[in-house]
Amino acid sequence: MKQAIELFVEEARGVSIRDAAAMLGLHIVGSCAEHPQPCPQCGGIDCFAFNTKKNKWNCRAGSVGGNDAIGMAAHVLDLDVKKRPELLEACAAVLGTAIPVDDGETHEERAARKERLEKRRLENAARAAAQAKDAASFREREQARARGIFEYASASWRRTAVDAYLCRRLKVGSLSGVGAGLRVRISPAETYWHGKDAFGRPADHHSGPAMIGAFEDADRQIIGCHITWIDLSNSPKFRPNLGNDEKCRVLPSKKMRGSKKHGLIPVVGNRDSRRWIVAEGIETVFAVAYSESFRADTLYAAAGDQSNLAGPANKKGRFKHPTLKRTDRNGRERAVMVPAPFPDPERLEDAFPIDGHVRECILLGEWDSEHVATAAAMARAKKRIELLLPDCLTALAWPPEGYGDFCDLVSGWRQSA
Ligand SMILES: [Zn+2]
Repeated sequence: MKQAIELFVEEARGVSIRDAAAMLGLHIVGSCAEHPQPCPQCGGIDCFAFNTKKNKWNCRAGSVGGNDAIGMAAHVLDLDVKKRPELLEACAAVLGTAIPVDDGETHEERAARKERLEKRRLENAARAAAQAKDAASFREREQARARGIFEYASASWRRTAVDAYLCRRLKVGSLSGVGAGLRVRISPAETYWHGKDAFGRPADHHSGPAMIGAFEDADRQIIGCHITWIDLSNSPKFRPNLGNDEKCRVLPSKKMRGSKKHGLIPVVGNRDSRRWIVAEGIETVFAVAYSESFRADTLYAAAGDQSNLAGPANKKGRFKHPTLKRTDRNGRERAVMVPAPFPDPERLEDAFPIDGHVRECILLGEWDSEHVATAAAMARAKKRIELLLPDCLTALAWPPEGYGDFCDLVSGWRQSA
């Protein structure tokens, strides 16, 4: 009997993300590899996605993800795989079969099953090893490309599109005071790759000036880059309209290449500084740097996005959103779950790196997404720094009511809503 259960689990481990998604009734849209959608468990807009090519899934709301179908099923169905019965339930869900029960099998049947089990186990191990190798070499190639993009860009940003872009975003005449401290670079004609050409190669969708930031890891090695395409004629954001993708979603005018997690984009100043100010976005932290006249004792840096600013949440601390509700697959109304305001103690390193010499760290909030989840993420970001650096004075700063972020505040643009 034990063997039958083991074979059942091994079989479930062999199920691809695509097959599991179909079994779980998730949305599989067109022939694309990436399938974003609301999380069946956490709700949200497009916060859950699985990728059939990379055989991966992830939920930004629950800050979980991975490359196994069982884990995905467990998250979607709210099962705890550390509990044996719930693990088996998740396996049953991806296989679409019932959990096996003892049916008094013969010796021959048992031997055949043992053989199948061993074969399955070997296949799964070989597949996992091949996937890990592919992922590692893909990551290395992407990191090398990202380094190349940053190194090829110019550090002489004065009187370029980057100079004009930052001035216009802040509605200021000049960036006097920043001196040589600006760490982002200018690429006069950066290619925006999107889609495929007639030969199946990546297509050159757009080319234009771009601001390039580097993601540095804990050892100050460049592991990724952040690209912001600029269009000085397109007010108020001064970024190009790049049209829509095949699913009619607006193409983003910012992209990240290589690795972002474990990285930090220096925007102004020196990493040896004991005072750090960190925001999600380059423009936000730049606005604060400008407003305090680019303090010489400070590094102004960006984390790239909220998850890299805040880090993964402690799974045990998920809480019900006070007002937001969603309808689950069985038509029942349930509260939307919000990730915890404190970090996963085992994954404190899984966000931007903070150097041991930092003694003051200010994290900048912004209201560009749902407020309760944003407030929880920022509380988590602060707690993470406090746990990593108990001697560092850590604080959160929020833009005043009516302003989305510090960039809006400095440029004096008040939201109409
Ligand atoms: Zn989720």
